[in-house]
Amino acid sequence: MNLNDKLRDTIKRNVQNHYESLSLLFGKPDSGNLTLAINNYNRPISYTRKEFISFSLNNSFDKESNQILAHEIAHLWWNKANIKNWEDWLNEGLAEYSSLILFREKYGNSVFKENISKLKTKIKDLPPIYNINYNNEYRQDVVTYKSAYLLYELENKIGKTNFIDLLKIFYKSNEINNATFLSLIENKFGIAIKEEFESKLKE
Ligand SMILES: [Zn+2]
Repeated sequence: MNLNDKLRDTIKRNVQNHYESLSLLFGKPDSGNLTLAINNYNRPISYTRKEFISFSLNNSFDKESNQILAHEIAHLWWNKANIKNWEDWLNEGLAEYSSLILFREKYGNSVFKENISKLKTKIKDLPPIYNINYNNEYRQDVVTYKSAYLLYELENKIGKTNFIDLLKIFYKSNEINNATFLSLIENKFGIAIKEEFESKLKE
């Protein structure tokens, strides 16, 4: 896809901004150089592999594309959970919620509230995150949006600073899986909060 220089510069600047803001929150990611490829598939698909982001752009670079971009950049941190089973919620939910935190810092609380209420609408009547089948038609929405909302609820419960600390520690842990995440919650905030979180995964 040929991009005009202005658009390319806008995207590049946003990539750098997102990368730097997220590095301030979580520390620098393990990855080295970052490659961003722009695709214009008919069906918008954006994905991130270690050090490579394929970013869908069909029309223009608007607020929504910038949010997708932030989600993809956040996968530089959140990509180590198993993508083949329901624990993919850790990759997708954390990437999505990181992008919402990033936009909260950038555009303030009213934009954040708006994004949370959109999120709430998207997750209405979705099946539980826990054990969601890979072939379930709602899988992508469940692991991305329902998980992000659950993380929002956790942040409300434990506070912003504690929440970021939790994510920092989780990012550095050797085993990125659901059990590790739950035991970190328990160690830092007690069994009641852990159990509540665990039961919400199953709701
Ligand atoms: Zn993703």
